[in-house]
Amino acid sequence: MEEKILLLIELQDCDKKRKRVLRKKEEVPERIKLLDDRMKEIDDKLDKELRQLEEYRLERRRLEREIDDRENKIVKSNIKLGNIKSNKEYQAALKEISDLKAEKAVYEDKAIEVMEHIERLEEISRQSKAQETELCERCESLKIVILEEAKAMDEEIKRLEIERERICLSIDADLLKMYNFISQHRDGLSISPVIKGVCQACNMGIPPQKFNELIRGNELMSCPHCKRIIYWGENERFRAVDRG
Ligand SMILES: [Zn+2]
Repeated sequence: MEEKILLLIELQDCDKKRKRVLRKKEEVPERIKLLDDRMKEIDDKLDKELRQLEEYRLERRRLEREIDDRENKIVKSNIKLGNIKSNKEYQAALKEISDLKAEKAVYEDKAIEVMEHIERLEEISRQSKAQETELCERCESLKIVILEEAKAMDEEIKRLEIERERICLSIDADLLKMYNFISQHRDGLSISPVIKGVCQACNMGIPPQKFNELIRGNELMSCPHCKRIIYWGENERFRAVDRG
């Protein structure tokens, strides 16, 4: 009986390990996605800044055209001024020039404001670009590490599957069927130690009579509560192999 229990403990240990690795493997796509999301976030931020910068540059060119236009008009008006004979016309031309100068001043103020925005955004986008480069490099190398881990996990899963087959060869078919059935219905936990009369899987006490039978270890027994296969957990031979 002890040998059978030992094999089942070994099998469960192997199954638990495989399950742990499979669970970790399932996290891989999400871990990769998190890195991609972070890269996309900084990319989007940089794109937005560059678009804004481009808009300000267009605005600066538009303002420069307006300033040039007023400048040309002022020059022309000044030339016209020299040929005017009547005082009324002269006054009107002076007014025109002063209006043009006022308009030009307004555009120049705006242009200075836009230039300040451009300088600020150029600095911000320079920093974002540096951040983006650094983050992308870091994310790419992290991705490589994750993919290498995933490869190691695949190898570990394969190794554990081979080990499982090897252990199963030594277990008789009915017992193996029972083990697999309980495993499916009891969250992958088919066999449990009973320590000081308490089943360690469901935490329920088993009747003293049954516990005494379990200590004697003459037959295969199940927990009356959770129906898992049970063994006496304080038995030194079982303790030595049960690594959880
Ligand atoms: Zn139990």
